[in-house]
Amino acid sequence: MRSYYSGPSTTPLLGATIGEALRSTSERVPDALALVSRHQGVRLTWRELDQQADELARGLLASGIQKGDRVGIWSPTCVEWTLLQMASGRVGSILVNVNPAYRTAELSYALSHSAVRMLVTAPRFKSSDYLAMLSEVRPTLPALECVVVIGEAPGGPADRSFEDLVAGGAAVDPQMVRDAESLLDPDDPINIQYTSGTTGSPKGATLTHHNILNNARSIADVLEYTDADRVCIPVPLYHCFGMGIGSLGCVTSGAAMVYPAESFEPETTLDAIAEESCTSIYGVPTMFIAMLASPRFGDHDLRSLRTGIMAGAPCPVEIMKRVVNEMHASEMTIAYGMTETSPASAMTRRWDDLERRTSTVGTALPHVEIKIADPLSGGTVPTGTPGELCARGYLVMDGYWRNPEATAEAIDSCGWMHTGDLAVMDGDGYVNIVGRSKDMVIRGGENIYPREVEEVLFQHPGVASAQVIGVPDERMGEELMAWVALDEGQTMTEEQLRGFCRDRLAHFKIPRYWKFVSDFPLTVTGKVQKFKMREIAVAELGLEEAAQIETA
Ligand code: AMP
Repeated sequence: MRSYYSGPSTTPLLGATIGEALRSTSERVPDALALVSRHQGVRLTWRELDQQADELARGLLASGIQKGDRVGIWSPTCVEWTLLQMASGRVGSILVNVNPAYRTAELSYALSHSAVRMLVTAPRFKSSDYLAMLSEVRPTLPALECVVVIGEAPGGPADRSFEDLVAGGAAVDPQMVRDAESLLDPDDPINIQYTSGTTGSPKGATLTHHNILNNARSIADVLEYTDADRVCIPVPLYHCFGMGIGSLGCVTSGAAMVYPAESFEPETTLDAIAEESCTSIYGVPTMFIAMLASPRFGDHDLRSLRTGIMAGAPCPVEIMKRVVNEMHASEMTIAYGMTETSPASAMTRRWDDLERRTSTVGTALPHVEIKIADPLSGGTVPTGTPGELCARGYLVMDGYWRNPEATAEAIDSCGWMHTGDLAVMDGDGYVNIVGRSKDMVIRGGENIYPREVEEVLFQHPGVASAQVIGVPDERMGEELMAWVALDEGQTMTEEQLRGFCRDRLAHFKIPRYWKFVSDFPLTVTGKVQKFKMREIAVAELGLEEAAQIETA
């Protein structure tokens, strides 16, 4: 039997735009709760969210933003993020999600590659002074005509405030938004999300209304959402898990989105679940590990929880069981996917037995095909045999922004997206993720391509060679480790190299462990054997237990 499974469905796909989906829910349940942003003290009904999205859409039109223009958003979680996503869905501008942890080099690359015309930005986040960073890069971004700052008066690189952008729309006839919407098609690109590459520069996964709306709706259906559900969304909005599965899943079902804080913290998430009576909770494994380990875990009444999704990195079986038992999410699920597939292709179902719900990533979602392919021949392998997971269907991205070569490498001529994840399928279509063929590390849900970190280390004048690997970690799933060979006669400390990286890389890409070496384990053909480095590191760092953790 071949490792092939096509997700059955009795529900047709939606042929709608994001703007239309929002309107339809707002007409169906206008007074139901749509969005709670707890740290901002904002609560909106669907009618209010719909109206505010329209007002912002008018503001975008008043500023000359048109269909196809790229509008960037660089901010932690806030209501403005979602309003911009919804308004873009009406005007047809392509939203470019910028990772809040980016440093200037990463920011400048994303904005210039997609030629962002307008950037909506928070003034700052954690240790990053966004406006100062923007002042530095703005001269190198000729396409960037306007910087809009959230929650503050303009100044420095910020031309306008968010309030002013909205106010500018008052002069625009509401009919203009309807006219702009009439030009849109569900197959139009509406979102660009940057993912680093195994080789060279980050790639902009470009997704259409059809891609992300249908994936979000399909997942909301699996979770059986109605407007009585309240979904706790501590995952960041810049990623598909937050703005797709999270926000759009609520838009398509009428469930309420609950944002606990501007970024994940275990306490604010637990408070949000308890105080807002959330019925569903989303997170990467590290977030659940942190919540369960919180000293105040037992103080929260989490009995409102019914369901949720763990996804984004290998999901430990034991943690899944604890979420079901100790967080009371009896219908908890696991989803598997990647940005390029909008994002989820497989998911467990409520009716799966506990064993399968905690130890597999489920089966293909409705309208989605999954096969496991032999990485060399491309042929579908028999069930029970590991190979590369490939996904096909409405969910496969439009392509990488202005990068046809990378697109052709990722999506084959039959339409299969090659994920670079190694998996095994059983005779019923259930999938286990067993490894990765791509050189990628996932630390606490954030993907890191070692190549990007190695390239920064190579820029250091004293470094002769550097290799970066992921090593197992009980809390983060994986941690980064750099092996560095210095030039003859050079001496250097870990701290010096860390400091060098700090100026050039987002904090999560800075290696936790360092090892100075004179050479690396090589194959006969001279290729670095990263698996050998990993074995050595596990033994030297005493990580055997973390390496044994069983995942779905
Ligand atoms: P991203 O594009 O950021 O969504 O990351 C996608 C990658 O995350 C996939 O290619 C997988 O390597 C990993 N991933 C996502 N979900 C899971 C899961 N449930 N189990 C194991 N790995 C996962």
